Amino acid sequence: MSDPNAPVSADQAGAVLTIDLAAITENWRLLSKKLKPGCDCGAVVKADAYGLGAANVAAALARAGCKTFYVALLSEGINLRKAVGRGPRIIVMHGVNPGLESEVFKHSLIPVLSTPDQILAWRTFATDTGVLQETLIQIDTGMNRLGLSEAEFTNHLNDPNGFQGLTPLALMSHLACAGTPEHPLNTMQLEKFTRALSAFRSKFPDAKGTLSNSSGIFLGEGWHFDYARPGASLYGLNPQPHTKNPMLPVVRLQAKILQIRRVDSTQTVGYGATFEATDGMKLATVSIGYADGFLRSLSNAGQAQLDGIPIRVAGIVSMDLLTFDISNVPDSSARPGAMIDIIAEHSTADDLARDAGTIGYEVLTSLGHRYARRYLPDSVPGLGS
Ligand SMILES: *Cc1c(COP(=O)(O)O)cnc(C)c1O
Repeated sequence: MSDPNAPVSADQAGAVLTIDLAAITENWRLLSKKLKPGCDCGAVVKADAYGLGAANVAAALARAGCKTFYVALLSEGINLRKAVGRGPRIIVMHGVNPGLESEVFKHSLIPVLSTPDQILAWRTFATDTGVLQETLIQIDTGMNRLGLSEAEFTNHLNDPNGFQGLTPLALMSHLACAGTPEHPLNTMQLEKFTRALSAFRSKFPDAKGTLSNSSGIFLGEGWHFDYARPGASLYGLNPQPHTKNPMLPVVRLQAKILQIRRVDSTQTVGYGATFEATDGMKLATVSIGYADGFLRSLSNAGQAQLDGIPIRVAGIVSMDLLTFDISNVPDSSARPGAMIDIIAEHSTADDLARDAGTIGYEVLTSLGHRYARRYLPDSVPGLGS
């Protein structure tokens, strides 16, 4: 069987996905400047850098000066180590899978320890091997997803052997509502985290603090601490959903028109006959479907652009095909082979997400493997110009 992730050439593909590495590195610089002095701007490259290709993205960011990368899984950390070499710090946010401590050590990964069991397993490994390797300790401050509870954290602090054998690089927590600045949970989490960090530092004076994802960075310097963990904003998603996006666009997705149909009587379009095309309507079909991550919830709802003119999805999204109503586009632009902008500067992943009833994160991480992928180099600015 052929590798589903093998590169696809532009002439074979139905659509071209362009990823602007220069825009990603520029976004990283923008975020770095926004951080308070001394705060390390890392990069979250989990889930294959939100679908954009972790190896290419991380290599470009490392060249730009990024020294800290965050992944979710051990397997992602092992692959990333191959892509960025020995230099950068790689932090594995889900920690050590039981029994695989030596793998973490072998690839020089830094695990985030979030449960008493993970701490105990790492302590045992550290004591057995005499290895004092850096770890992060994650506490829960109000999200109730991952991290030590307040009681577990206090127990460990009060137990002289609680963190035995560990060299804690930082205390970590995660914000639940950072995209909504006025949400009271932001301040509550900040206060809990600040208190815990100060208790932690009475035991480990050099321990750093890390609390903020992309949106957290925009809450203000009080939330920055020592390490920031942006993901989405690097990839052009808006970290402040209710204001103008301060980030540069990174992704462009263009689909080739396969067929144009002018309807000469009232007809329906697609599975289930959910869209009614009236006499004279012009339809264009492209080779993208839900198997490519064009979410089925965009049926009769998604918008795109043809030559800068907004167009709408007509009917249900199929597995590999998608039809647009292009009646408002002049014939000079509407021809087979012309490219429809599915994701572009003025029809962004965030826009598509809103129409689909989801978030830009899901749109990016759903991007399929049948697109021809093109990387614009990080050395020269590209996409917007
Ligand atoms: C995914 C993730 C991030 C990055 O969040 P963005 O909103 O994409 O910037 C940071 N920290 C943790 C713990 C995460 O899971």
